[in-house]
Amino acid sequence: MKEIKKTKRLDNVGYDIRGPVAEEAARMAREGVDIIALNTGNPPHFGFYAPESIEKAMSDHIRTSEGYSDSYGIPEAIEAIKSYSASKGIEGLDYGDIFTGNGVSELISISLQALIEIGDEILVPTPDYPLWTSAATLCGATVRRYLCDEAAGWTPDIQDIKSKITPRSKAIVVINPNNPTGALYPKDSLTEIMDVAREHGLVVFADEIYDRLVFDGAEHFSCAAVAPDVFTVTFNGLSKSHMLAGFRCGWMVISGDRKRAADYIEGIRMLSSMRLCANVPSQSVVSTALDDAYAAAPLLSPGGRLYEQREFIYRAINDIPGLSSTKPQAAFYLFPRIDTARFGIHDDERFVFDFLHEHHVLMTHGKGFNWPDPDHFRIVYLPPIDDLETIVDKLRRFLVTYRQ
Ligand code: PLP
Repeated sequence: MKEIKKTKRLDNVGYDIRGPVAEEAARMAREGVDIIALNTGNPPHFGFYAPESIEKAMSDHIRTSEGYSDSYGIPEAIEAIKSYSASKGIEGLDYGDIFTGNGVSELISISLQALIEIGDEILVPTPDYPLWTSAATLCGATVRRYLCDEAAGWTPDIQDIKSKITPRSKAIVVINPNNPTGALYPKDSLTEIMDVAREHGLVVFADEIYDRLVFDGAEHFSCAAVAPDVFTVTFNGLSKSHMLAGFRCGWMVISGDRKRAADYIEGIRMLSSMRLCANVPSQSVVSTALDDAYAAAPLLSPGGRLYEQREFIYRAINDIPGLSSTKPQAAFYLFPRIDTARFGIHDDERFVFDFLHEHHVLMTHGKGFNWPDPDHFRIVYLPPIDDLETIVDKLRRFLVTYRQ
């Protein structure tokens, strides 16, 4: 009988962070090996839980959440997202500008599917959150990578962005705060990017899911607020700020010159109504969550778990000979550099694979984030400090003898 094959459209898509090394970890776990999984930013797996008010909001609304909602979302969620956006300087939103989704992930796919023609080019950062590359490639886009510069605190290199623009460029993705680097972009950097988008008529996809997880009292600026005239789709959700990754609760907000994009917006509307609606019980907690939008703030200041874990991991990794890292300003990721010459490393996937086998800790290699060289990896520093100490100790011992 004829072989059953995956669609050719998936041929160049590549894996996201749940690739072969994560598969191997899952296999080892099935055989009874105790794996420390540091490959996804999944707060509830590390003892971070949603505020109790959220559980109450969901149970209070469970009966009224049984039916489909409007495909945009329930009115209470839309109103709350509108107010939250206004608080970030994204003003003048109307009915039809806000779409709820089953996580930001679903909305990334919808927003790209509605836009991309085969061969269109989209500018995506390197390193990136890999879903952006995978989803754009699946739609038939050619991904053109712009550099986020480690030497400049991982901020986007504006000259590189300009050099990657061609007549086929249709959109630019900005991930701020950034996964995997933990960088928070200064306003000037965003202004420059938005100027380029304005000049070349690019759609801006601003993934701001970590905007409420910022350290050191720094301010997050939304692309859409920096340049209100530029057509922008801003993505956000509750997976990280309210530790609700499993609820699949996200939204996107359309701002800027909507007249020019009326046909595209119609496409988004069609696709979101094809999936009927986002999970309604999850939508029912959005207004409660955004009433306390900065619920995670105590975790981010001295004495708070995320703050102390960041301080620890940043110091401990930089203390290991051959590793170095910039200090993350947001989210819960560290993206250290490995001195590849010292360890003879030419394959970063093999490096994390070998570490997994020897020490049962699963991390993600830099190429998993579409970083071109084999000289980085990402640590999710959500585990408590005692566990991070154990992990760092394993890594230190592993690197004493590791040579590829
Ligand atoms: N965007 C970025 C930058 C992320 O890091 C993640 C998850 O890690 C997502 C989007 C996906 O978010 P969601 O859980 O809302 O689908």
